[in-house]
Amino acid sequence: MADKAGPLKETFPHPPRLSDAFLEEVEKVVGSADLKTSEAELIAHSRDFWPLSQIWFLKGKIPALPEAVAYPESTQEVAKIVKLSAKYNVPIVPYGGGTGVLGGAVPLFGGLVVDIKKMNEILEVNDKSLLVKVQAGINGWRYEEALNSLGYTGGHIPQSLPSSTVGGWIACRAAGQFSTKYGKIEDLVVSVEAVMPDGKVVKSKTVPRSSTGPRLEQLLLGSEGILGIITEATLHIFPFPEKRVLLSFAFDELERPLEAVRKILRRGFFPAVVRIYDEAEVSLHFRNLKELEGKSLLLFVLEGDAKLTDLEAEVVAEECRKEGGSFNGEEPVKHWLKTRFDVHLLAEMVKAGAVIDTIEIATTWDKATELYHRTIESLQAVDGTVHASGHFSHFYQDGACLYLTFGGFPTSPEEYYWQAWGAVMETTLKLGGTISHHHGVGLVRAKWIHEELGEYFEVLKKIKSAIDPLKIFNPGKLGWGE
Ligand SMILES: Cc1cc2nc3c(=O)[nH]c(=O)nc-3n(C[C@H](O)[C@H](O)[C@H](O)COP(=O)(O)OP(=O)(O)OC[C@H]3O[C@@H](n4cnc5c(N)ncnc54)[C@H](O)[C@@H]3O)c2cc1C
Repeated sequence: MADKAGPLKETFPHPPRLSDAFLEEVEKVVGSADLKTSEAELIAHSRDFWPLSQIWFLKGKIPALPEAVAYPESTQEVAKIVKLSAKYNVPIVPYGGGTGVLGGAVPLFGGLVVDIKKMNEILEVNDKSLLVKVQAGINGWRYEEALNSLGYTGGHIPQSLPSSTVGGWIACRAAGQFSTKYGKIEDLVVSVEAVMPDGKVVKSKTVPRSSTGPRLEQLLLGSEGILGIITEATLHIFPFPEKRVLLSFAFDELERPLEAVRKILRRGFFPAVVRIYDEAEVSLHFRNLKELEGKSLLLFVLEGDAKLTDLEAEVVAEECRKEGGSFNGEEPVKHWLKTRFDVHLLAEMVKAGAVIDTIEIATTWDKATELYHRTIESLQAVDGTVHASGHFSHFYQDGACLYLTFGGFPTSPEEYYWQAWGAVMETTLKLGGTISHHHGVGLVRAKWIHEELGEYFEVLKKIKSAIDPLKIFNPGKLGWGE
């Protein structure tokens, strides 16, 4: 599929029609109200939040349409649908909130979309063990709100919280804004239930740990719908924080806040939210705060037990001052908290003809600054770029995630898009970083995934063909998904 401009075009081969017999059998499983074939429903499930598909969409072009959309309400219904898809050899695309940004939910080969949003119940809260069991289609916002009302937090707050699902988080190996304290989704998931491509229902045990071979949830974390449908999950929860402290510091150079954060984590403190903005992002997101002009900005949200939070605040201030940071109060953090789910400006810019996207990559501390400078330079060198900026978020004792934003008003949007992506992917691979920290692979990164994974790519291909010999599960995704 690869060509010079990029791995994809705006139209895909039209899929063969589904047989009436298949649709009738699926209808018997979910009921006529939950098997949709209307044009509106098919168009709504033709894509996710992949920016290039949004540009095509605005031009009236739809890359790929499913033939039908089913809304099962239970694991048993999902299992029956999957068995029917195997019997009739129908491609099947699991669908959560449709907020993936890499085309992972685009039904490349048509077939049936299985939208699990009706599987949205909180099944059990175990206060003693601090665990919650949910159906995987539960909406993120509803999940967090329900936990908050019971005195907990789930600790997983991606920017897409209002629209994404727990199943989608697991399928994409997601990371939330509060991840430095609470962990990424792979740290939060304790066990899962899933329907495999042969229709069998499999589960892992809800236990704190077990040494019984590779665990089911590890296989499915990041599988992007190509190995099965996640139907239930049990996750860690946390007592709702007793105290929250907001802190911000301004620095003259980006290297200094990176050093401050590295040292804070090295001392064993893990603030919930840590964000380091470069100068360009400060002028984009904090232009109302004039005192920050020309600076790098470091934001913290510290939360949890009151005594621990106070101590953490002391350590954070100490390390930031040592690196030359000047205390900037709560205001920038309050501004971030207020605006953190707001992406309307991006949508407006795309409507106005801009090409904009974000790319999240990660590396170890020793290469973090170089990765930042080299990827920004690589974006600036692409003809048509008018904006290239970055912030660091999601921190570890061994490294950090760099989140880049680029955009322009190029004459050839598609060519520009793939050149910009290529510039960052190739620079990251050269420097030994990972090409994705938390958005996943979908269609966009498929072109570079072999180089990212090396020989392990072949191992994954073998696992895929053993689990899904008919190749019906979300075909064409992840590079090794055939
Ligand atoms: C504005 C915005 C902000 C975002 N912020 C973040 C962020 O802070 N952190 C982050 O990690 N990501 C973020 N994302 C990316 C996206 O929200 C996440 O990848 C999210 O986890 C996708 O969940 P979803 O339910 O929308 O999945 P979908 O988009 O519906 O699906 C994504 C992929 O997972 C598969 N899938 C979905 N559900 C299941 C299931 N139950 N079983 C098996 N496969 C399944 C699909 O087939 C597809 O391949 C953001 C996206 C947007 C648009």
